[in-house]
Amino acid sequence: MTSEKKKIDSVVWGATVITMDASLNVISDAVITISNGKIQSIFSQKDFTPSNRVESIDARGCLVMPGLINGHTHVGMTLLRGIADDLPLHDWLRKHIFPLERKLGNQEFVSLGTRLACLEMIRSGTTLFNDMYYFEEATAKTANEMGVRSICGQTYVEISGVEKASEVFKKFDSFFSEIQKYKLITGALAPHSIYGLSEKLWIEMVAYARQHDLMIHTHLCETKEEVDRIKAERGVSPIEWFDSIGLWERKTVCAHAIELTSADISFLGKRKVGIVYNPESNLKLGNGICPVVELRAAGAPISFGTDGTASNNNLDLFREVDFGTKIQAFKYGVGKLPALESVKMLTIEGAKALHMDHLVGSLEEGKSADLIVLDISAPHAVPLYDWYSYLVYSASQSDVRDTMVAGQLLMKNRQMLRCDEKMILDEALRWGIQIKELNTLLQNRG
Ligand SMILES: [Zn+2]
Repeated sequence: MTSEKKKIDSVVWGATVITMDASLNVISDAVITISNGKIQSIFSQKDFTPSNRVESIDARGCLVMPGLINGHTHVGMTLLRGIADDLPLHDWLRKHIFPLERKLGNQEFVSLGTRLACLEMIRSGTTLFNDMYYFEEATAKTANEMGVRSICGQTYVEISGVEKASEVFKKFDSFFSEIQKYKLITGALAPHSIYGLSEKLWIEMVAYARQHDLMIHTHLCETKEEVDRIKAERGVSPIEWFDSIGLWERKTVCAHAIELTSADISFLGKRKVGIVYNPESNLKLGNGICPVVELRAAGAPISFGTDGTASNNNLDLFREVDFGTKIQAFKYGVGKLPALESVKMLTIEGAKALHMDHLVGSLEEGKSADLIVLDISAPHAVPLYDWYSYLVYSASQSDVRDTMVAGQLLMKNRQMLRCDEKMILDEALRWGIQIKELNTLLQNRG
């Protein structure tokens, strides 16, 4: 890639850089120059002295890597964190989450949830999240204000089956035109699931995606009941049914993908369908384990995801990768998903799964300067023999010292630079008191 010599805005220097580029280059005493939000150059230079005319981030003794990628979230519902736990999926959804969402679903709830989620993600090193929720215009606006890159998928669930497709798509038209003004936001379609929409509307969704070249983000094969129901009703598996309506010809990313046959796995691999592995949510709700090792062997790119905080209950990818890698060792045998492979899934492979690898996922000239600086001096990081093993098995979100998206520092020395953290937390606590009262009221009403 050529690097035009434009004015340098900032420089990150002195660290060891894990680039996650195609050769997996690791550069010591690295200097990363940033111009107009993009990486202009990366090189190694001992005793580097930065110019005092540019913003200088002294990262000596630290580790720098691409910002982490969260492939599946519902940030608008972050205020429901921990409201109902230790329940089977059906009770959790029908008795708690759906009734609360019906009462609380509005722009204000989604904006504050997004703000709180962005705060947590900036602190834990996430620079891109792939979201799916209602009132996604509020998510797009808030994420852009907070400075976090996001793919915002407007969710649709066809509850009554009587919605007019023309009205649904009119709403989508205005959503996609509204979010164009946000530099860090990419729009997507997020039909909830195979069972959440009629067959007719699914066909129209795929046509709309084709017409506007949009990515489709959906939940896929999350439970056995879902797959059994589709097979009984339509005589084919969800993967086959989606093939019959042309979904796999579109840019697609599917969350969960737990209940798959070997034929499904090789099909998804051949089509290079992006899959999101959400181990904590899947295990917490008792749904099962995504066949990550087999899907990767078949050719599907995989991203880690946290899912929403109501089913996890955090957005911390360091916890996710540690847990998720060990679960795969249990399922397939130790060493089948080594730490390096999991770090790929958090970065460049995750970006591929989300169709964003042209822009993010590795630190290379010409890509966006979305990166994190990790302080590796805490006791749990010492001694440090292998970068990838540290990142997967011992790193903690508290190691993230600085977070940068598109060349803008969002956190420096653990201090938030673009938002009032205390105000967000105080407001979330106030809402929490009201949500708890509302949940009790709804339960008492039965
Ligand atoms: Zn989900």
